[in-house]
Amino acid sequence: MERRIDGHTKLYALIGSPVGHSGSPAMYNYSFEKLGINSAYLAFDVPLEKTKEAVDALRTLHAGGFNVTMPCKTAVAQLVDRLSPAAELVGACNTVVVEEDGTLTGHITDGIGFVRNLKEHGVEIKGKKIVLLGTGGAATAIAVQAALDGASGISIFNRKDEFFANGEKTVEKIRNAVPTIEEVCINDLDDTELLAKVIGESDILINATRAGMSPLENVMPVPESCLRPELAVADVVYNPRETLLIRKAKEAGCRAAVGGIGMLLWQGAAAFELYTGQEMPAQEVLEKFFS
Ligand code: NAD
Repeated sequence: MERRIDGHTKLYALIGSPVGHSGSPAMYNYSFEKLGINSAYLAFDVPLEKTKEAVDALRTLHAGGFNVTMPCKTAVAQLVDRLSPAAELVGACNTVVVEEDGTLTGHITDGIGFVRNLKEHGVEIKGKKIVLLGTGGAATAIAVQAALDGASGISIFNRKDEFFANGEKTVEKIRNAVPTIEEVCINDLDDTELLAKVIGESDILINATRAGMSPLENVMPVPESCLRPELAVADVVYNPRETLLIRKAKEAGCRAAVGGIGMLLWQGAAAFELYTGQEMPAQEVLEKFFS
């Protein structure tokens, strides 16, 4: 690494808190080195109240761009000069490109990464009916991207908890921004009869809740009886690598059973491409850092 750094090296960064556990520096620095790009990537622990100072500093230092993690994603969306259509709808960004003139463009690549991961597993979104479980950060990004990418219907299900109202807002935003979508709605996840009926009429089931993630690793987000061979099933949870839902989907012979680690990889790859205009060596990164 130190042999690569000189007076022209461009800085890329991750801001948020905590960041010490992040795999991003390893992934991006490996990719820069592999492609001979004179850039370096560092993680900075930035609490919410310091977001503006951090963004101003990165702008002043003319960084090439930066990723944003919790708790700064929403705050950064309000500080940049423009937002991508998806970031605008989600109201958050995880990737900021510092343009040549010093202006900042905010993107959200979570949904892009999710859709790309599905594609890598032979599952297309366009024209498909989707059941999406969850209304938190990951679910919102996926709902918006799926709508922008031409899903024919999105039925969101969530518990009637503090996240439910966010799902109602997302439905409204999608209806206004993508009027061509045939159906977008939100229902109570605890209405298992309706849930089973809607999954029975859908092509893709996506879990974007915390169900299945440690310490909820024994929680199935839907009844096992909803799984059938014609259904493609995807999970955003990547800890554990194979969630209970994905294991049960494989056992039920679902036409695809896609875990969450690929979403993590491809959202990073999408950011890398926005930064450099080049494709990240995704397969190598996957084997080296994500297996
Ligand atoms: P969040 O806190 O914003 O939202 C949590 C969601 O889970 C809400 O919809 C909530 O109602 C639901 N929920 C919580 N406990 C539940 C339970 N017991 N049963 C059913 N629903 C429950 O979280 P987030 O940031 O959207 O993350 C959600 C999951 O997605 C986490 O496991 C996270 O690690 C994962 N994630 C993965 C990626 C990736 O790249 N693969 C990216 C972001 C998040």
